[in-house]
Amino acid sequence: MSPKYRRVLLKLSGEALMGNQNYGIDPKVVQAFASEIAQVVQAGVQTAIVVGGGNIFRGMKGAAAGMDRATADYIGMIATVMNAMTLQDALEQMNVPTRVQTAIAMQEVAEPYIRRRAIRHLEKGRVVIFGAGSGNPFFTTDTTAALRAAEIDAEVIFKATKVDGVYDADPHKNPNARRYRSLTYTHALTHNLAVMDSTAIALCKDNDIPIIVFSLETAGNIYRALTGEPIGTMVGG
Ligand code: UDP
Repeated sequence: MSPKYRRVLLKLSGEALMGNQNYGIDPKVVQAFASEIAQVVQAGVQTAIVVGGGNIFRGMKGAAAGMDRATADYIGMIATVMNAMTLQDALEQMNVPTRVQTAIAMQEVAEPYIRRRAIRHLEKGRVVIFGAGSGNPFFTTDTTAALRAAEIDAEVIFKATKVDGVYDADPHKNPNARRYRSLTYTHALTHNLAVMDSTAIALCKDNDIPIIVFSLETAGNIYRALTGEPIGTMVGG
């Protein structure tokens, strides 16, 4: 079966990488994700990844505890690089060629972000992992995912989370909460639904990039989603 997509962007939150721990990285969880991503690449899908850093540090939390917000955000961005390198290591152990590109220069450990170079890597079948967010404080890695997806001309963003899609209420609190199969950007924005932050959704809306929200809790879902099986919730125009 030929995959539905040619080029995709996967957004992995930092929290996804910590498994059942309260903090940090669970290498076993990262290995499991890497093996699914390896299958996606083998299926011929050009795959770029934006990783978050919430398992290590969040700028907002630092600011709430009295830190300067911009400084705290830079620390958060640096945290994402640790996650990016961990994912790279897991993928390369599975013989998947990868490149980490960072939005804050760290040339001893990763390439700088260069758009045209990232596209070239993807064309050659390498997974490109974008670290250090957008390089700007006051943004999130969700917004980075929207920005990079637009820049590299990805057809779709896959937002991997802990819930199996977007609900009209919090499914953990409300047993009557209903999952959307699809919804519009405007609906997500006006109802403040937990898809991505509003900057990220607005950027996807302006550039007409659909977002597919799906759960990582079920093994095999990364492969299913990225190869085009209709799972989760699609947010689009
Ligand atoms: N961050 C930032 N600019 C960006 C991306 C991220 O300042 O373009 C910082 C911000 O402090 C954020 C942290 O990096 O809290 C980690 O990213 P995020 O919270 O988006 O990670 P996730 O929730 O996906 O784990």
